[in-house]
Amino acid sequence: MAQQEEVFKKIVSHCKEYGFVFPSSDIYDGLGAVYDYGQNGVELKNNIKQYWWQSMVLLHENIVGIDAAIFMHPTTWKASGHVDAFNDPLIDNRDSKKRYRADVLIEDQMAKYEDKIQKEIDKARKKFGDAFDEAQFRATNARVLENQQKYDALHHRFQEVMNAEGGIDLEGMKQIILDEEIVCPISGTRNWTDVRQFNLMFSTEMGAAAEGTSKIYLRPETAQGIFVNYLNVQKTGRMKLPFGIAQIGKAFRNEIVARQFIFRMREFEQMEMQFFIQPGTELDWFAKWKETRMKWHQNLGFGSENYRFHDHDKLAHYANAATDIEFHMPFGFKEVEGIHSRTNFDLSQHAKYSGKKIEYFDPERNESYTPYVIETSIGVDRMFLSIMCHSYEEEQLADGQTRTVLHLPAALAPVKLAVFPLTKKDGMPEKAQEIINDLRFHFNCKYEEKDQIGKRYRRMDAIGCPFCVTVDQQTLQDNTVTLRDRDTMEQRRVAISELRGIIEDKVSITSLLKNLL
Ligand code: ATP
Repeated sequence: MAQQEEVFKKIVSHCKEYGFVFPSSDIYDGLGAVYDYGQNGVELKNNIKQYWWQSMVLLHENIVGIDAAIFMHPTTWKASGHVDAFNDPLIDNRDSKKRYRADVLIEDQMAKYEDKIQKEIDKARKKFGDAFDEAQFRATNARVLENQQKYDALHHRFQEVMNAEGGIDLEGMKQIILDEEIVCPISGTRNWTDVRQFNLMFSTEMGAAAEGTSKIYLRPETAQGIFVNYLNVQKTGRMKLPFGIAQIGKAFRNEIVARQFIFRMREFEQMEMQFFIQPGTELDWFAKWKETRMKWHQNLGFGSENYRFHDHDKLAHYANAATDIEFHMPFGFKEVEGIHSRTNFDLSQHAKYSGKKIEYFDPERNESYTPYVIETSIGVDRMFLSIMCHSYEEEQLADGQTRTVLHLPAALAPVKLAVFPLTKKDGMPEKAQEIINDLRFHFNCKYEEKDQIGKRYRRMDAIGCPFCVTVDQQTLQDNTVTLRDRDTMEQRRVAISELRGIIEDKVSITSLLKNLL
């Protein structure tokens, strides 16, 4: 784990050093859990968004997009339940003065038991090799059984306090923290305050003081912008059930504990799609969207062992199924996307609070009803982080050197092609520019003439540029260049006229989308 933490730290510094992610207002020492995307980060982020948007809107005839405002009528958040119930349980340590999410402290404790079990299993697997039978080991090893028992007991208690009548049982939650002897990682003490509820929405005022102001919220999710536009889109687009509305946009949450870089931010971006369906078909559609979304993730080629579903034990009262897609980050398997079967809760609530009839007339059944909804909701920033974590490598080379390389999927890489003149004379820079001028309409190209070729390659490896081209003396005679592949580092001689054909297919989003059909 310590080694993984080291790697994670390196990824964070790499993001800053190579223009991917900077702390917000860096010259003023940053702002907690708020980040800016730099010159390379914004390109990668835009490519992620394009991959998602096109997979939804381009590949599905029955999904359309919208772009709703961040500010919404304050009643929206009353209707959605966010004013009354968008809370996290928080607890303070009196000695360190640090604040924690009480549920996360307990989840971390459960993860500790899981880690202990995993360590025993790994040790035994090493010892017994091919003869190792994991199921039998789990059922008989005393240390595994002891930790499993502790895990199960804690899990059971946690479920009870989270699902208590009338909301989370805050006293019960504190008791668990005391009984498990959970200490503050900073002070090392168990001097805890009581657990309190904390609303995560940011609020601000709209309007000048003289004309009366009203309190409004920065949206904590983009989904409500879709629900309040359901009628507009359904009517103007003459949409027939089942159909979906997709949206990408900023969301804001006053997270209590801001940790793990861009994993948990106070200002972040979501890509959400609400799929409206006939009541009664929701479990089939839920299964279908689980499969579709997992395929979208795995299509990036990071290995299926790095993903898993985490089905929710605790369902919101209106939901009848929910799962997370988790990715293996350096700090464990973590949620990147949520898929929820939300019944007709949101549309019914908005109908109730707005007084408008929000229904669908089904011509086949000759009746009106409130559609049910399956939601897929993914964080752009968490997706970005998972891609960075998986792509980053400090590779040991045959000559004993190390290179830092980002094995980004070519279609997502910020720069697709770098063009270098071998030297700054004999017309090589002009020839290199000529190549760029030709290709820049098709994909993102970068010109580099500073330093030796070897150093230029390293800089391009570090930002994940999949192809580099070098213009040399021979180019001036026969219009061929050396084309270098980022991952294999192999170089081959190709004609300039062939470059577009070789590269374009590999770096376009279309190349990714084709595998989804
Ligand atoms: P968590 O349990 O980690 O707080 P959540 O279950 O509250 O997340 P959802 O409300 O389901 O998250 O939001 C959908 C997606 O939005 C998440 O899967 C995640 O990718 C992203 N997301 C949510 N909160 C944040 C945040 N604070 N920073 C970055 N991304 C976030």
